[in-house]
Amino acid sequence: MTVKKKYIDMTAPKFHGLRVEFYKALLNSKFKEELKEKIKPHLFTLAEIEIKSFSPEVIPLMQEENTLVSQYDKLVSSAQIEYDGKTLNLSQLQPYMESKDRKVSKEAYEKWSSFFETNEEKFDEIYDKLVKIRHEIALKLGFKNFTELGYLRMGRSDYKADDVKKFREHVLKYIVPISNELRERQRCRIGVDKLRYYDIPFNFLSGNPAPKGNKEWIMERAKKMYEELSPETGEFINLMIEEDLFDLETKPNKQAGGYCTFLYDYRVPFIFANFNGTQGDITVVTHEAGHAFQTYESRYMDEPEYSFPTSESAEIHSMSMEFITWPWMELFFEEDTEKFKFFHLSDSLTFIPYGVTVDEFQHFVYENPHATPQERKKAWRDIEKKYTPYKDYQDNDFLDKGTFWFKQGHIFGVPFYYIDYTLAQICAYQFWIKCNNDRKKAWNDYLNICRVGGSQSFLEILKTGNLNSPFEENTIKQVASEIKSYLDSIDDMKM
Ligand SMILES: [Zn+2]
Repeated sequence: MTVKKKYIDMTAPKFHGLRVEFYKALLNSKFKEELKEKIKPHLFTLAEIEIKSFSPEVIPLMQEENTLVSQYDKLVSSAQIEYDGKTLNLSQLQPYMESKDRKVSKEAYEKWSSFFETNEEKFDEIYDKLVKIRHEIALKLGFKNFTELGYLRMGRSDYKADDVKKFREHVLKYIVPISNELRERQRCRIGVDKLRYYDIPFNFLSGNPAPKGNKEWIMERAKKMYEELSPETGEFINLMIEEDLFDLETKPNKQAGGYCTFLYDYRVPFIFANFNGTQGDITVVTHEAGHAFQTYESRYMDEPEYSFPTSESAEIHSMSMEFITWPWMELFFEEDTEKFKFFHLSDSLTFIPYGVTVDEFQHFVYENPHATPQERKKAWRDIEKKYTPYKDYQDNDFLDKGTFWFKQGHIFGVPFYYIDYTLAQICAYQFWIKCNNDRKKAWNDYLNICRVGGSQSFLEILKTGNLNSPFEENTIKQVASEIKSYLDSIDDMKM
């Protein structure tokens, strides 16, 4: 572990303590009423949440928690897998796992899972300690278990575990059947007798849709797209380009992944990515640019807490931009545009059952903090079978006993985060539908939710954007039926 990482692991909980002191001063201020006129009120709710989720007494436990998460990260990044005459880490193995050659994808998946199997005891030990420490922190702070504290740590102020439970039930009822159908279509498309776990990333015999040009080519088109989309996005993209607020090209020793951040001192967004020639490059100029555009539209707010909303809301901005920009996808995918759209919609939909699996598993874990690693694995496999019954680990006993989640860093690092992607996705689909019906209105709703930044809670943002709540059964039902009719109208066998 680097010295710097260790320093942050030790200092972050103390820093949390300082923030809590500040928030206490804010809430106890004799000018509180006057402040409420100056500051949008959500900050007071966020302050209460931070105060409830901390006490100086839990600092040593929080430090231990951070250390364990760093151990997990280090273990995952330590992977050195011998394949194809090379020594690869897990992300370098990824392209082989997505290979069109079934023999290669099977071998790569087996290499991948044998890394986790070799380190099974270590993963079990790290997670077991994390669960017990989080439970202890929760008890010390006066909660009955970690679940409620986990929700508070995510900044959630207006929905609870029960709402999310109902959401998962509705996913099971309306989304899972479509997801199962899509996997069956995938099986037919790629021409296999039975879809195995190592076939999942392989979607088209002709390969996945990819942009037809390099970084400069993509950025030229992204500029044209945002200039045509609206005056606001035109202004935004030109600022991003003129001020060089991107780091897009992949290079040796550069950190993996992609994200958007907000440079508060300059009040501008910044986008970090690793372009690699796949459709992920386009996601950077739609998804990450969606995050960036939100921070740009809400940059006038003085409170740093309001730069981004809580993550289930922040992902609405990004995931919706992926759909709002659909009319320009021809610029990037040319003759493969329909294939891209089919893939985008079906891939995002089949993700939802996996997303709720990760969530339900964590509810089991923190409601049963004394379960053994074996009991956890069994719970994972049972939940996995419920939401993704097509997952077939027939020839891999290790994955079949319920260990696929070892790879999911969120489960170790940020408990209860994962459901946010699925909640936001249901909202993004609503923008997709709205854009098809009344683009002008859809754009206004989108602009409005960007402008409030993080100054509203999730349910308030839904109201601002005229969005139906994903917690209502009817919302999922309607969204699912629109998606199904679109997907059914496409002849994917020719793709
Ligand atoms: Zn995002």
